[in-house]
Amino acid sequence: MLDYSQTDIKFLPGVGPKKAEILNKEIEVFSVEDLLYYFPYKYIDRSRIYFIHEIDGNMPYIQLKGRITAFETFGEGRRKRLVAHFTDGTGFIDLVWFQGARFITDKYKVNSPYIIFGKPTLFGNKFNIAHPDIDPYINEEKRQTGLMPYYNTTEKMKNHYLNSKAIQKIIASAFSSVVRNLTETLPDEVIQTARLMSLKQAMRNIHFPENATLLREAQHRLKFEELFYIQLNILRYTADRKSKLKGFIFSKVGDNLHKFYEQNLPFELTNAQKRVIKEIRQDMATGEQMNRLLQGDVGSGKTLVALMLMLITLDNGFQAAMMAPTEILATQHYLSIKELLKGMDINIGLLTGSTKKADRERIHSNLLTGDLQILIGTHALIEDTVQFANLGLVIIDEQHRFGVAQRAKLWTKNVNPPHILVMTATPIPRTLAMTVYGDLDVSVIDELPPGRKPIQTIHQYDKKRGSLYESIRKQLKEGRQVYIVYPLIEESEKLDLKNLEDGYEHIKEVFPDYTVCKVHGKMKPKEKDAEMQRFVNYEAQIMVATTVIEVGVNVPNASVMVIESAQRFGLSQLHQLRGRVGRGADQSYCILVTPYELSADTRKRIDIMVESNDGFVIAEADLKLRGPGDLEGTQQSGIPFNLRIANLVRDSEILQYAREVAQNILDADPQLERPDNRILLKQLRKLSGNKYNWGLIS
Ligand code: ADP
Ligand code: MG
Repeated sequence: MLDYSQTDIKFLPGVGPKKAEILNKEIEVFSVEDLLYYFPYKYIDRSRIYFIHEIDGNMPYIQLKGRITAFETFGEGRRKRLVAHFTDGTGFIDLVWFQGARFITDKYKVNSPYIIFGKPTLFGNKFNIAHPDIDPYINEEKRQTGLMPYYNTTEKMKNHYLNSKAIQKIIASAFSSVVRNLTETLPDEVIQTARLMSLKQAMRNIHFPENATLLREAQHRLKFEELFYIQLNILRYTADRKSKLKGFIFSKVGDNLHKFYEQNLPFELTNAQKRVIKEIRQDMATGEQMNRLLQGDVGSGKTLVALMLMLITLDNGFQAAMMAPTEILATQHYLSIKELLKGMDINIGLLTGSTKKADRERIHSNLLTGDLQILIGTHALIEDTVQFANLGLVIIDEQHRFGVAQRAKLWTKNVNPPHILVMTATPIPRTLAMTVYGDLDVSVIDELPPGRKPIQTIHQYDKKRGSLYESIRKQLKEGRQVYIVYPLIEESEKLDLKNLEDGYEHIKEVFPDYTVCKVHGKMKPKEKDAEMQRFVNYEAQIMVATTVIEVGVNVPNASVMVIESAQRFGLSQLHQLRGRVGRGADQSYCILVTPYELSADTRKRIDIMVESNDGFVIAEADLKLRGPGDLEGTQQSGIPFNLRIANLVRDSEILQYAREVAQNILDADPQLERPDNRILLKQLRKLSGNKYNWGLIS
């Protein structure tokens, strides 16, 4: 049977090769089916006709029924405009065109009845509608009433007469033949249990909604389907991986952990740390390979958890590795872990980009003999030449800085893949976690070590420098240290660096009795480390920096974080920066400096920061304000974040439900072998051929 849905759109009436090419390039619509899945982004109610005398200042798009009494042209050259005086007997309104005057006066006649559609705006003391839609009134029967769909179009499309209305026309002309041939894409059983509309009905109502209720049902069905297949794919992939890969079994807790616990542990573990260690230990003892995400807000003590898990690994005769995103952070981990393991007979190595050749070679050979038990490093650690004797656990700190492909490299380090624990301080909203990290198990440290005072966050306008410096001076006098952070974004790098330099000079003048150091991303790693080290050693009391300090730096004596031009940072970035203070027992402060004039969204962001210290609250708010596509880590996740119709924030309930339905199906039929489920395999295969790289999810 000929599958009409796969027909090239260039064969559709009114399309042709030229327009087809534009649709290919601009919105990736190639086949009739693609066009069908190009959903409207909004609908406008065209059921009501207004009277001109009803019009007031803030109306949305409306319809009027009446006649043009005369055309008039005003202005010259580029400022020329055509005006049609329009009346319905209750008043007058002007219809205005800035282009295409000839076309309009040819097409529309004075004194013929028309339905016009557009948004009235007040111009001088008279209402007008610019570039209205006009339909002859005699077509009343065929006139689109009810909900009128709007399709996204690009500038280029519009230049080639492919506006929303044209798209609608093309869809309408192809519709009845495609729909007839559409095969259902969900099994009957799913349609029944989830009480969904059929695909045909959904397609009809998404493009030509009969009424608001049917539209909502159509949207629901299509959203469900989109989320359902993502979840089915993730869950299937996870199950598959679990059944294929054997994991090392860490059955015991031995000398290393016991000794550490009794002699070296510097403080009581928090309950959350204990719980998480237990969860992870159990996971590493099952015989399955662990793939787990450990979430814990900044300062929640993830390093200690990581260390104890590495000790368990050693106790079971394996090596452990820990990877950090930057050299500074890797070094800091190395030093603090070395300190924590003082007096214990454990070999630890540090491998980064700047490790000397001789050291590097020694590390390589000691890894192969198994003498080196713990290796800490940057991604130098996953370079091809590094081979382990028996790598049992890999811990990845702040994973969003590592691409998925880099993570995958770890698997080739052994015959069997090591257990993998990804640690992150960027709290991930639940809906996103279910999607981006859908195949990872999750552990959460939801408690900070005791004695920490919540950081006080203050919003300050940049005109009030005097009182800002007063607060800073007070803290400096008490022996505390201060960070001052400037934004650095690529487009305006030069300008930002100048801001940073100016800020640095200025701060030196304002605080002559203190030493100021400076760190930014353009410095060589060595210089950067040296400056950072001066701050760590209290040789410098103020650090002026860009966001390079965002990740992981631990200076408990620092109690003030000043963020300049805070309006230019995203919420999660602000939260990360704030997490650099409040690491000791002293009251800490985060001061967000902004201009007085702020957009509503920005003010909301700042308010959220002032009100909440909870990373999860902030992450949810961030997701709501920005949408998932912008969140860190999502671009590289391989997930189709340009979801066609579903929205990870608004449709989280549908997402949750779709996941349950998918899980139930897999529980009953893991390989999707039942005749009813064949349709699922077919769809999954079809989707995997799409531009989305499903295979990358890991
Ligand atoms: P993060 O989760 O941000 O990586 P760290 O592991 O760097 O946090 O820990 C932050 C600070 O808290 C460190 O100085 C660490 O020594 C300390 N810490 C960790 N666990 C505890 C605990 N149970 N009690 C007291 N302090 C702790
Ligand atoms: Mg950390």
